[in-house]
Amino acid sequence: MSVFLKLLLRNRLAAMGAAVLTAILFLVIITPLLPLADPDVTDTGKRFVPPFSEGALLGTDHLGRDQLARLLYGTRLSIAIGIAAAVIAASIGSAIGIIAGYYGGRVDNLIMRLVDMLMAFPYILLALAIVAALGPGLMNALIAVAAVNVPFFARNIRGVTVSLAGREFVDAARLAGMGNTRIILSEILPNVLPVIVIAMSTTVGWMILETAGLSFLGLGSQPPQADLGSMLGEARAAMIRAPHTSVVPGVMIFLIVMSVNLLGDGIRDALDPRLKSGALSRPLATTMVDRHGAVPAADQMGLLNIQELETQFHVGARVYRAVGGVSLHVSPGECLGVIGESGSGKSVTALSVMGLVASPPGVITGGAVRYAGEDLLAANYESLRKKRGQNVAYIFQDPLATLHPLYRVGDQLIEAISSHHRISRTEGRKRALELLISVRIPNAESRLNDYPHEMSGGMRQRVGIAMALANDPDVIIADEPTTALDVTVQAQILSLLDDLRRERGLAIIFITHDFGVVAQLCDRVAVMYAGRIVEEGPTSAVLEAPAHPYTKRLIACVPELGGGRRRLAAIPGLPPVVDNLPKGCAFAPRCEKAADACRKGEIALAGAGQRAVRCIDPEEVLA
Ligand code: ADP
Ligand code: MG
Repeated sequence: MSVFLKLLLRNRLAAMGAAVLTAILFLVIITPLLPLADPDVTDTGKRFVPPFSEGALLGTDHLGRDQLARLLYGTRLSIAIGIAAAVIAASIGSAIGIIAGYYGGRVDNLIMRLVDMLMAFPYILLALAIVAALGPGLMNALIAVAAVNVPFFARNIRGVTVSLAGREFVDAARLAGMGNTRIILSEILPNVLPVIVIAMSTTVGWMILETAGLSFLGLGSQPPQADLGSMLGEARAAMIRAPHTSVVPGVMIFLIVMSVNLLGDGIRDALDPRLKSGALSRPLATTMVDRHGAVPAADQMGLLNIQELETQFHVGARVYRAVGGVSLHVSPGECLGVIGESGSGKSVTALSVMGLVASPPGVITGGAVRYAGEDLLAANYESLRKKRGQNVAYIFQDPLATLHPLYRVGDQLIEAISSHHRISRTEGRKRALELLISVRIPNAESRLNDYPHEMSGGMRQRVGIAMALANDPDVIIADEPTTALDVTVQAQILSLLDDLRRERGLAIIFITHDFGVVAQLCDRVAVMYAGRIVEEGPTSAVLEAPAHPYTKRLIACVPELGGGRRRLAAIPGLPPVVDNLPKGCAFAPRCEKAADACRKGEIALAGAGQRAVRCIDPEEVLA
């Protein structure tokens, strides 16, 4: 709730709307307590007294009634009617929408056609017709305004419900044996509630206007009772002679509708879950870089050289140290494995390289990323953009999420190429075909015209790899590319990547949580834990003689075919939360060998030759 308020108030216009609306609401709530004249007492001797006269701050109207009193009581009535209409319309409309969307089929058809019939009439005409049938009066105006707004809510909420009703959590609720009513109340309603609130907050102003419109035409509040619309209507005849009688209610209507709409827009933005985690702004084009310490000097290691990289997430007062000083490098033709449990900072490290961590909340606070000697963290957006895909390309875990669902894969490949090179369509097609062939997609020619959903998971991931290869990059960062695939397809993808790096001299950073995969593909491996590297070295050396207790436990978790009756030892406990890292070794709470010294202070990554380990009592002494 407080996050919501903070987001809302950060939006200046919405805050202004909220302030004006609060002031007006406060005034109308305390109206009965104010020393005001009776709003309905006429005094024809004092007609059209101008504003700021004695005894009549806002003047009097054509019957000598006090304008201030009429304004406040009228506003009270108008707001009450507007809000009541909104609540009624929202409740009835949403109920209709949820039922239609949830049950679907014939129920949906019947209900929605009725709603369509209501929608076929122009708004105000329909309201007029309803009031004409029911007779003039404030209550009937309220009913009319609520009725004409029901279809709006029904349509909106039905749309949201239809997409929710097919989701897995609803199926799960059904499997758990819940009845329809219970599912609607406990699964669907909480999910559509924000949409209802948003729709309401953006339509209240409109309903206040509609009620005022009906009153203006004499169909709403009846004399002598004042509401904003009837005040305007009665002032119409004296518009020239005594303009204040029109200006006073006019300004009030303007203020109310303006502030309600500004606030409504603000609520909509603040409730939008996509905007909630970040600020109200979209993420920046590159990750924010705010380096405090000195930038590490270039050390000529590898083509891509990550040096003491630190990436954090600043969420409110909390600082999540997702990556805390990671150094990695790869050379052409080499494959470096990065391994660690979920949440250890592998993806954030990878995304930091090309400035792809969402900012806010992501900030790179230290270190350097050098590509062929150039510090990418100091590069401007344009030069980074040119390198993305062209020099360093990514392959992600879920190709179904990274491919556009509505474009053919061929067109997406062509787009990937044309974002860096000017090519004609025929050339693009030719190149796309070559790419699909190079990742060994059978019938590549016809597959170009497939949509992503027409392909299997393994084939989609091949397309993902083809896309990464589209601009002949030198470095490929593969972030768990085979996690979503079955083992046979995984083996094919791994051998494909292995061939590619041999043929093209690609440097590959391969992120995974699976030591089996590392053993198949990687020359060297770096083990990450809680945002830091705890061990690194040539794959075979690390696998044969792991030095860090964590590495040893990780390897012990890999099942071995025909490996006898070895017990698979899971690592007890969970990785630490990175906004509150323990002092000293982050693995100490889960480590059998942990001693007091482990929890004291910083432990350095100490190495010999190609190997290094961050432990004061390693399993293997590195020589
Ligand atoms: P993995 O090793 O599984 O790829 P990640 O690199 O995705 O892990 O995440 C590293 C850490 O950063 C995790 O502890 C995660 O909770 C944290 N993190 C990632 N994104 C955010 C974010 N937007 N706000 C706060 N913390 C985040
Ligand atoms: Mg990840």
